[in-house]
Amino acid sequence: MGRVYIVGAGPGDPELITVKGLRLLQAADVVVYDRLVAKELLSYTKRGALLVDVGKSPGGVGPSQEEINELLYKYAKAVDIVVRLHGGDPLVFGRGFEECLYLAERGIYCEFVPGVTSGLAAPAKYYIPPVARGIASSVALVTGREDPSKGRRFVNFRKLAGAVDTLIIYMGASTAGEIARELLEGGLSPETSVAVIRSAYFSDEEFITTTLGELKSVASPAIIVVGHVVAKGVALMEHVRKISPPPS
Ligand code: SAH
Repeated sequence: MGRVYIVGAGPGDPELITVKGLRLLQAADVVVYDRLVAKELLSYTKRGALLVDVGKSPGGVGPSQEEINELLYKYAKAVDIVVRLHGGDPLVFGRGFEECLYLAERGIYCEFVPGVTSGLAAPAKYYIPPVARGIASSVALVTGREDPSKGRRFVNFRKLAGAVDTLIIYMGASTAGEIARELLEGGLSPETSVAVIRSAYFSDEEFITTTLGELKSVASPAIIVVGHVVAKGVALMEHVRKISPPPS
Protein backbone atom coordinates (compact mmCIF):
# COMPACT_ATOMS: atom_id res chain seq x y z
CA MET A 1 0.00 0.00 0.00
CA GLY A 2 1.28 3.42 -0.92
CA ARG A 3 0.30 6.89 0.16
CA VAL A 4 -1.32 9.70 -1.78
CA TYR A 5 -0.28 13.34 -1.52
CA ILE A 6 -2.93 15.73 -2.77
CA VAL A 7 -0.77 18.66 -3.80
CA GLY A 8 -1.49 22.21 -4.95
CA ALA A 9 0.69 23.19 -7.91
CA GLY A 10 -0.21 26.87 -7.78
CA PRO A 11 -1.42 28.65 -10.91
CA GLY A 12 0.38 28.51 -14.30
CA ASP A 13 3.77 29.75 -13.06
CA PRO A 14 5.80 26.63 -12.17
CA GLU A 15 7.74 28.61 -9.55
CA LEU A 16 4.61 29.05 -7.46
CA ILE A 17 4.54 25.48 -6.13
CA THR A 18 5.65 25.04 -2.51
CA VAL A 19 9.04 23.53 -1.64
CA LYS A 20 7.20 20.59 -0.08
CA GLY A 21 5.04 20.09 -3.17
CA LEU A 22 8.11 20.07 -5.40
CA ARG A 23 9.95 17.62 -3.16
CA LEU A 24 7.01 15.19 -3.28
CA LEU A 25 6.69 15.62 -7.03
CA GLN A 26 10.33 14.61 -7.39
CA ALA A 27 9.76 11.52 -5.25
CA ALA A 28 6.47 10.40 -6.83
CA ASP A 29 6.10 7.09 -8.65
CA VAL A 30 2.83 8.23 -10.20
CA VAL A 31 1.64 11.80 -10.82
CA VAL A 32 -2.01 12.37 -11.65
CA TYR A 33 -2.39 15.94 -12.87
CA ASP A 34 -4.98 18.52 -13.94
CA ARG A 35 -5.36 20.73 -16.98
CA LEU A 36 -4.53 23.98 -15.17
CA VAL A 37 -1.20 22.74 -13.82
CA ALA A 38 2.00 24.29 -15.26
CA LYS A 39 3.29 21.49 -17.48
CA GLU A 40 6.94 22.53 -16.81
CA LEU A 41 6.49 21.03 -13.34
CA LEU A 42 6.28 17.55 -14.83
CA SER A 43 9.93 17.80 -15.87
CA TYR A 44 10.87 17.57 -12.18
CA THR A 45 9.49 14.06 -11.84
CA LYS A 46 11.93 11.17 -11.50
CA ARG A 47 12.85 8.95 -14.40
CA GLY A 48 10.31 6.21 -14.92
CA ALA A 49 7.52 8.02 -13.06
CA LEU A 50 4.12 7.48 -14.60
CA LEU A 51 2.42 10.76 -15.57
CA VAL A 52 -1.35 10.61 -15.93
CA ASP A 53 -3.32 13.51 -17.45
CA VAL A 54 -6.86 13.67 -16.07
CA GLY A 55 -7.56 17.22 -17.20
CA LYS A 56 -10.64 18.22 -19.06
CA SER A 57 -11.73 21.50 -20.56
CA PRO A 58 -14.96 22.99 -19.15
CA GLY A 59 -17.76 20.82 -20.48
CA GLY A 60 -15.17 18.84 -22.44
CA VAL A 61 -14.17 15.24 -22.31
CA GLY A 62 -11.98 13.76 -19.62
CA PRO A 63 -12.32 11.25 -16.83
CA SER A 64 -15.14 11.80 -14.36
CA GLN A 65 -14.37 12.51 -10.71
CA GLU A 66 -15.38 8.93 -9.90
CA GLU A 67 -12.88 7.66 -12.46
CA ILE A 68 -10.14 9.91 -11.03
CA ASN A 69 -10.89 8.58 -7.54
CA GLU A 70 -10.65 5.01 -8.80
CA LEU A 71 -7.38 5.73 -10.60
CA LEU A 72 -5.84 7.18 -7.43
CA TYR A 73 -6.96 4.12 -5.49
CA LYS A 74 -5.58 1.77 -8.10
CA TYR A 75 -2.16 3.49 -8.17
CA ALA A 76 -2.01 3.80 -4.38
CA LYS A 77 -2.28 0.02 -4.14
CA ALA A 78 0.48 -0.47 -6.72
CA VAL A 79 3.25 2.02 -5.84
CA ASP A 80 4.75 3.85 -2.83
CA ILE A 81 4.07 7.50 -3.61
CA VAL A 82 1.23 8.93 -5.65
CA VAL A 83 1.01 12.68 -6.15
CA ARG A 84 -2.35 14.08 -7.16
CA LEU A 85 -1.40 17.47 -8.58
CA HIS A 86 -4.12 20.13 -8.66
CA GLY A 87 -3.99 23.57 -10.23
CA GLY A 88 -3.93 26.24 -7.50
CA ASP A 89 -4.93 24.78 -4.14
CA PRO A 90 -6.41 21.27 -3.97
CA LEU A 91 -9.12 22.29 -1.53
CA VAL A 92 -10.31 25.48 -3.23
CA PHE A 93 -12.86 24.27 -5.79
CA GLY A 94 -10.45 21.43 -6.49
CA ARG A 95 -12.28 18.35 -5.21
CA GLY A 96 -9.18 17.27 -3.31
CA PHE A 97 -11.35 16.69 -0.27
CA GLU A 98 -13.54 14.21 -2.13
CA GLU A 99 -10.47 12.37 -3.35
CA CYS A 100 -9.02 12.02 0.15
CA LEU A 101 -12.41 10.90 1.47
CA TYR A 102 -12.67 8.20 -1.19
CA LEU A 103 -9.14 6.96 -0.46
CA ALA A 104 -9.45 7.09 3.32
CA GLU A 105 -12.68 5.08 3.18
CA ARG A 106 -10.67 2.38 1.43
CA GLY A 107 -7.83 2.43 3.93
CA ILE A 108 -5.39 4.55 1.90
CA TYR A 109 -3.35 7.18 3.73
CA CYS A 110 -3.57 10.63 2.16
CA GLU A 111 -2.32 14.09 2.99
CA PHE A 112 -2.94 17.60 1.64
CA VAL A 113 -0.18 19.94 0.57
CA PRO A 114 -1.68 23.41 0.07
CA GLY A 115 -0.99 25.47 -3.01
CA VAL A 116 -1.31 29.09 -4.05
CA THR A 117 -4.87 29.44 -5.23
CA SER A 118 -5.49 31.25 -8.52
CA GLY A 119 -8.09 33.48 -6.87
CA LEU A 120 -5.36 35.12 -4.80
CA ALA A 121 -2.39 34.70 -7.14
CA ALA A 122 -4.01 36.11 -10.28
CA PRO A 123 -5.08 39.42 -8.67
CA ALA A 124 -1.70 39.70 -6.90
CA LYS A 125 0.04 39.74 -10.26
CA TYR A 126 -1.83 42.97 -10.97
CA TYR A 127 -1.23 44.41 -7.50
CA ILE A 128 -4.83 43.76 -6.40
CA PRO A 129 -5.06 42.73 -2.72
CA PRO A 130 -8.02 40.65 -1.49
CA VAL A 131 -8.18 42.80 1.63
CA ALA A 132 -6.41 46.04 2.48
CA ARG A 133 -6.53 48.19 5.58
CA GLY A 134 -9.15 50.89 5.27
CA ILE A 135 -10.42 49.58 1.92
CA ALA A 136 -11.64 46.02 2.39
CA SER A 137 -11.74 43.87 5.50
CA SER A 138 -13.57 40.82 4.20
CA VAL A 139 -13.31 38.60 1.14
CA ALA A 140 -15.36 35.70 -0.21
CA LEU A 141 -14.07 33.06 -2.59
CA VAL A 142 -17.09 31.82 -4.54
CA THR A 143 -17.99 29.74 -7.55
CA GLY A 144 -19.97 31.26 -10.40
CA ARG A 145 -21.02 27.93 -11.77
CA GLU A 146 -24.60 26.85 -11.58
CA ASP A 147 -25.73 23.49 -10.34
CA PRO A 148 -27.14 21.92 -13.50
CA SER A 149 -29.18 19.36 -11.55
CA LYS A 150 -30.92 22.03 -9.49
CA GLY A 151 -31.09 24.67 -12.21
CA ARG A 152 -29.94 27.29 -9.74
CA ARG A 153 -26.79 28.82 -8.37
CA PHE A 154 -24.78 27.58 -5.43
CA VAL A 155 -24.14 31.14 -4.37
CA ASN A 156 -26.67 33.80 -3.39
CA PHE A 157 -25.03 36.83 -5.01
CA ARG A 158 -27.78 39.23 -3.96
CA LYS A 159 -27.07 38.52 -0.30
CA LEU A 160 -23.31 38.47 -0.79
CA ALA A 161 -23.43 41.91 -2.36
CA GLY A 162 -23.94 43.62 0.98
CA ALA A 163 -22.08 41.12 3.12
CA VAL A 164 -18.46 41.18 1.96
CA ASP A 165 -16.13 43.86 0.65
CA THR A 166 -14.30 41.81 -1.99
CA LEU A 167 -15.68 39.01 -4.09
CA ILE A 168 -13.36 36.61 -5.87
CA ILE A 169 -15.28 34.52 -8.34
CA TYR A 170 -13.98 31.24 -9.77
CA MET A 171 -15.63 29.52 -12.74
CA GLY A 172 -17.73 32.59 -13.42
CA ALA A 173 -16.49 33.40 -16.92
CA SER A 174 -19.58 32.32 -18.82
CA THR A 175 -22.07 33.56 -16.24
CA ALA A 176 -20.37 36.90 -15.48
CA GLY A 177 -23.18 39.03 -16.93
CA GLU A 178 -25.80 37.27 -14.88
CA ILE A 179 -23.72 37.44 -11.71
CA ALA A 180 -23.26 41.18 -12.26
CA ARG A 181 -27.01 41.62 -12.57
CA GLU A 182 -27.60 39.78 -9.29
CA LEU A 183 -24.94 41.84 -7.50
CA LEU A 184 -26.56 45.04 -8.78
CA GLU A 185 -29.94 43.81 -7.57
CA GLY A 186 -28.25 43.13 -4.24
CA GLY A 187 -27.38 46.80 -3.99
CA LEU A 188 -23.85 47.15 -5.37
CA SER A 189 -23.18 50.25 -7.45
CA PRO A 190 -22.75 49.83 -11.21
CA GLU A 191 -19.51 51.83 -10.76
CA THR A 192 -17.97 49.13 -8.54
CA SER A 193 -14.61 48.22 -10.03
CA VAL A 194 -14.09 44.75 -11.48
CA ALA A 195 -11.02 42.92 -12.76
CA VAL A 196 -11.07 39.86 -14.97
CA ILE A 197 -7.86 37.85 -15.11
CA ARG A 198 -7.92 35.14 -17.70
CA SER A 199 -5.34 32.33 -17.94
CA ALA A 200 -3.19 33.97 -15.30
CA TYR A 201 0.51 33.09 -15.61
CA PHE A 202 -0.07 31.24 -18.91
CA SER A 203 1.04 32.52 -22.33
CA ASP A 204 -2.48 33.56 -23.37
CA GLU A 205 -3.03 35.60 -20.21
CA GLU A 206 -5.38 38.58 -20.35
CA PHE A 207 -6.17 41.31 -17.84
CA ILE A 208 -9.30 43.43 -18.17
CA THR A 209 -10.68 46.09 -15.87
CA THR A 210 -14.27 47.16 -16.08
CA THR A 211 -17.18 48.07 -13.84
CA LEU A 212 -20.02 45.97 -12.54
CA GLY A 213 -22.45 47.80 -14.81
CA GLU A 214 -20.38 46.80 -17.86
CA LEU A 215 -19.35 43.27 -16.90
CA LYS A 216 -20.02 40.68 -19.63
CA SER A 217 -19.17 37.01 -20.00
CA VAL A 218 -15.57 36.20 -20.87
CA ALA A 219 -13.57 33.18 -21.99
CA SER A 220 -12.48 30.76 -19.29
CA PRO A 221 -10.51 30.07 -17.18
CA ALA A 222 -10.89 33.40 -15.46
CA ILE A 223 -10.87 34.89 -12.02
CA ILE A 224 -13.24 37.81 -11.52
CA VAL A 225 -12.56 40.26 -8.70
CA VAL A 226 -15.29 42.65 -7.62
CA GLY A 227 -14.67 45.49 -5.17
CA HIS A 228 -12.84 48.72 -4.43
CA VAL A 229 -9.57 46.84 -4.03
CA VAL A 230 -9.48 46.54 -7.83
CA ALA A 231 -9.27 50.29 -8.46
CA LYS A 232 -6.76 50.69 -5.62
CA GLY A 233 -4.61 47.85 -6.89
CA VAL A 234 -4.62 49.07 -10.46
CA ALA A 235 -3.58 52.54 -9.27
CA LEU A 236 -0.64 50.98 -7.42
CA MET A 237 0.29 48.91 -10.47
CA GLU A 238 0.34 51.98 -12.69
CA HIS A 239 2.53 53.75 -10.18
CA VAL A 240 4.96 50.82 -9.91
CA ARG A 241 5.19 50.49 -13.68
CA LYS A 242 6.61 53.98 -13.91
CA ILE A 243 9.51 52.91 -11.73
CA SER A 244 12.20 51.18 -13.75
CA PRO A 245 13.37 48.10 -11.88
CA PRO A 246 17.03 48.02 -10.94
CA PRO A 247 19.07 45.48 -12.95
CA SER A 248 18.78 42.05 -11.35
N1 SAH B 1 -8.08 24.65 -7.31
C1 SAH B 1 -7.97 25.75 -8.24
C2 SAH B 1 -9.33 26.14 -8.81
C3 SAH B 1 -9.95 25.07 -9.68
S1 SAH B 1 -11.52 25.52 -10.29
C4 SAH B 1 -7.30 26.92 -7.55
O1 SAH B 1 -7.13 26.90 -6.32
O2 SAH B 1 -6.90 27.87 -8.24
C5 SAH B 1 -11.11 26.13 -11.87
C6 SAH B 1 -11.25 27.62 -11.90
O3 SAH B 1 -10.13 28.22 -11.26
C7 SAH B 1 -11.26 28.23 -13.28
O4 SAH B 1 -12.56 28.18 -13.87
C8 SAH B 1 -10.85 29.66 -12.99
O5 SAH B 1 -11.91 30.39 -12.43
C9 SAH B 1 -9.81 29.43 -11.90
N2 SAH B 1 -8.44 29.35 -12.41
C10 SAH B 1 -7.57 28.35 -12.22
N3 SAH B 1 -6.36 28.63 -12.76
C11 SAH B 1 -6.49 29.85 -13.31
C12 SAH B 1 -5.59 30.71 -13.99
N4 SAH B 1 -4.33 30.36 -14.24
N5 SAH B 1 -6.06 31.92 -14.41
C13 SAH B 1 -7.32 32.29 -14.15
N6 SAH B 1 -8.21 31.52 -13.51
C14 SAH B 1 -7.80 30.32 -13.08
